[in-house]
Amino acid sequence: MSASKKHEITIIYGDGIGPEVVTSTRTLIDAACPNIVWETAEAGAEVFKKGIASGVPQETIDSLNRTRVALKGPLETPVGFGEKSANVTLRKLFETFANIRPVREFPGVPTRFSGAGIDMVIVRENVEDLYAGIEHMQTPDVAQCIKLITAKGCEKIMRTAFEFARSEGRKSVACATKANIMKKTEGLVKSTFERIAKEYPDIESWHIIIDNCAHQLAKKPEQFDVIVTTNMNGDIISDLGSGLIGGLGFAPGANIGHDVAIFEAVHGSAPKYAGKDTINPTAMILSGVMMLRHIGEFEAADKIENALLYTLESGVHPRDVVTDTPPVGTKAFTDAILKNFGKKPVNWKTRERTPMKVPARPATTAINKVEKRETIGLDVFVEFDGTAAEIGPKVEAACKGTGFKLKIVSNRGTVVYPLTGTSPDVVNQWRCRLYLEQPVVEPAMAQVNGLLESIEGQGLRWMHIEKLCKFDGVESFTKAQGEN
Ligand code: NAD
Repeated sequence: MSASKKHEITIIYGDGIGPEVVTSTRTLIDAACPNIVWETAEAGAEVFKKGIASGVPQETIDSLNRTRVALKGPLETPVGFGEKSANVTLRKLFETFANIRPVREFPGVPTRFSGAGIDMVIVRENVEDLYAGIEHMQTPDVAQCIKLITAKGCEKIMRTAFEFARSEGRKSVACATKANIMKKTEGLVKSTFERIAKEYPDIESWHIIIDNCAHQLAKKPEQFDVIVTTNMNGDIISDLGSGLIGGLGFAPGANIGHDVAIFEAVHGSAPKYAGKDTINPTAMILSGVMMLRHIGEFEAADKIENALLYTLESGVHPRDVVTDTPPVGTKAFTDAILKNFGKKPVNWKTRERTPMKVPARPATTAINKVEKRETIGLDVFVEFDGTAAEIGPKVEAACKGTGFKLKIVSNRGTVVYPLTGTSPDVVNQWRCRLYLEQPVVEPAMAQVNGLLESIEGQGLRWMHIEKLCKFDGVESFTKAQGEN
C-alpha cells in the first residue's frame, strides 16, 4: 500500500526462543518495510517475576491500545509464578476473538505429505468454549468446566472465516463441529455458520463433524481450504495441521480482534533451545508476513515470503528440516533470506490478496431475539453419597407442596431414576429435573427458595440450579441420556 505511511507496532520479544525468532523477523521486516516504528513492550516470565500476577504490565496494555498491532514472541507460563497464562490474558484483554492459522506445504521441506498440495487455513474461535475458564469443583469429587458458546461469538468467528476466505480468494469454508452430540453448544456454532454462509454465496460452505475432520486431515488434507471451528477443536486440529507440513517451526498465526491484532507463532518458548541459535524462525517470520498484510504492506509481505520460500527451496534450512544437506543456525538462515530478497520460489503459487474486512462488533448482546419465554422447571444439582434408589424417593418427598414434580434424576447425564433396570456407575453429583406443575414466565423466588429448603431438608446439598425454559416454544435444554 503506502510506501511512506508510518506504522507504529508493539513488539514483545517474549521468553525462551522468543528473542531469537522475533529478532530474526524484525531484521527482515526492517529491511523490507522501513516505515515501521517499533515500540518494545514486556510480557511473560520476567513480568511474573516482578510480582505482576497477570504477566502483562499496564505499559504493555497502553502500548497495544495505542498501536493496535503487536508482533509477539512466545511467552512462558512459569510454574510457581502467576496463575494464568499471559498469552491468554493478552488474547482476552484485547478480545482477539479469531485465531487464524495457515497450514501450507513448503518447498524444500520434505514431509509424509510432500506433493499433496496442502494449503488450508484454520480459523479458530479464540476466547470462548471450554477456554472461557469457568471451572468449579461442584463436590470434592466432581469438577465442572462450562463450555460457553455465544451467538455473538459464533457470528464474529463465522464472518471472520468467510471474510478471510474472500481476502485470499479461497473457494470453500468447512465448519467443523460436534453438533451431533452437543446439540445446544456446538449446535449453535453449526446453525450460526449456516445462517452466515448465506451472506457469502460466492464461497462454498459445508459442515463436517470434528472427529471426521481429524480423520480427513490425516488422510486427505489437501481437500480443505478454510476450516472454521471452536476454540478447543481448533487448538487441537491446528497443531495436527502443523504436523502435516513440517512441525511447529512452520506454523504462523494471527490473533484478530475488532480493535487490536496480535501476530505470533503457534509454538511456545521451547526453553531448552533458547539462546542456542538452532531453532526455526519461519513460523514467526510468517506471522510477521501476516502482520504486514494486515497493515496493508502487501509488497513487503510478498518480498519476505518469497525470499523465505526461495531459501527453503534452494536447500538452506534450519535444524527441524531433515534433508541430505546440513542445517544452518537461526542467524545464518535469516541472513540467507535477506540475501534472497527479490527472488521467487519456483514451486509456489502466490495468492492474489486483498485486505481482510474485520467484522464489525455487533452492537447488542442479544443476537437471537425471542417473542415468548416460558419457564417449565428447574434442574437442581445436588450432592449425595448414596444410590439412585435412595435419592429418587428423597427428591419426590422434597417436591411435595412446592409446585414442582420430579421428572427424572440423572447422574453424569444418564437417567438413573425412575429406576431403569440398568446399572450405570454413579458419583456424588446428581441432577434432579423438576417440572413446574404450572409453567410460568419466571418462577417466584419464594417458590424456588421453598424447593431448595425442602431439598436441603432431605439431606441433599444443592450446589447449582439451572432454569428449564422454552424460547418461542423450543426447549432451551437437552434431554438426559435415556430420558423420554
Ligand atoms: P513449545 O512449542 O515451546 O515446544 C515444543 C517443541 O516443539 C520443542 O521442544 C521443539 O522441539 C519444537 N519447536 C517449537 N518451536 C520450534 C521452532 N521455532 N523451531 C524448531 N522447533 C520448535 O511447547 P512447550 O514445550 O509445551 O511449551 C514451552 C512453554 O511455552 C510453556 O511455558 C508454554 O506455556 C509456552 N507456550 C507459549 C505459547 C505462546 O506464547 N503462544 C504457545 C505454546 C506454549
